Amino acid sequence: MSCNYADGLSPYENKGVLGIAEKFDSAEEIEKKINQIIEMLETSKHVVVHTGAGISTTAGIPDFRGPKGVWTLEEKGEKPNLNISFNDAVPTVTHMALRCLVEKGYVQYIVSQNIDGLHLKSGLARRYLSELHGNMFIEQCNKCRRQFVRTTAAETVGQKPCGGACRRSCRGGILLDNILDWEHDLPERDLDLAFMHSTLADLNITLGTTLQIIPSGNLPLKNKKHNGKLVICNLQPTKHDKKADLIIHTYVDDILSKICKRLGLEIPNYSHDEDPTKSPNDDNQEWTIPAQQVKEIEKLYNAKQKAASAQRKAGKTQFTFFTKKEPVISKKKRKAEDAADSDDGIERKVKNEK
Ligand SMILES: [Zn+2]
Repeated sequence: MSCNYADGLSPYENKGVLGIAEKFDSAEEIEKKINQIIEMLETSKHVVVHTGAGISTTAGIPDFRGPKGVWTLEEKGEKPNLNISFNDAVPTVTHMALRCLVEKGYVQYIVSQNIDGLHLKSGLARRYLSELHGNMFIEQCNKCRRQFVRTTAAETVGQKPCGGACRRSCRGGILLDNILDWEHDLPERDLDLAFMHSTLADLNITLGTTLQIIPSGNLPLKNKKHNGKLVICNLQPTKHDKKADLIIHTYVDDILSKICKRLGLEIPNYSHDEDPTKSPNDDNQEWTIPAQQVKEIEKLYNAKQKAASAQRKAGKTQFTFFTKKEPVISKKKRKAEDAADSDDGIERKVKNEK
């Protein structure tokens, strides 16, 4: 499929503010801001990163609202200049750096609006990722709702039949593409986890998004009532600049490279061997979020809310976020957890204000 998947979506009028000029901080400002974000990363206990189309432009995939974005050009009756197919696109420096930061315990969760599958291709484990608008390299059974990794991007958009019968041979189940159209509900488990992690984060960082789509764009503000911090990294102004504790205007690849260098981390290169779309096997072909994972976070979330409410009643404002970094779960343990999870999932309508 070409990168112009947007052609397959139904017409939609309100696409937000388009094509605002990009801004670049001076080298001196960037150095100062990198110092600040490093300090925040080192002192925060639960860091959630929110990614948008801006992190995939260096992979050759156009964004939506940038000066050359899909919707910006559409308004002028033009089409984006495409030089790569989704099947050939590979993760950027930012995607690989994020995987590294997660594995080293600096980032606890990633919430993405992107459907390009580049977080999946980077080798980031499903456990650390919510994909709010779907993923073109994933297909989902309409019966058991299990998700499976595809080796090629789906040819359809808008949750249409794309890949035959369910791979678990559940009775009558057929596979649908996983790309949401405007009117679709957001995937429940992804949204629940994104909401809870964002609320409990002492630091939310946004990368390459103007934060105009809701609910995705509002999630990074959810920790504000608990005095959590917000860092915005984007070239264009965003809807929530006024609420940010720090705004960095430069290329996200540069920001992530500088961060990793300062933390003494080597950003791994993209590898076919770690890309489930290139080397599908029994271990990595399923992409379903286990119901158990949602329950675990829910328990922590409820305990935190209860504690916060007790503090408020006692006249205190101090709120404790997650108290320790979530351990990286070993592959073996994760597999055992997934095997133990037999919940088919109950559909709960989530208001989609996209
Ligand atoms: Zn099925």
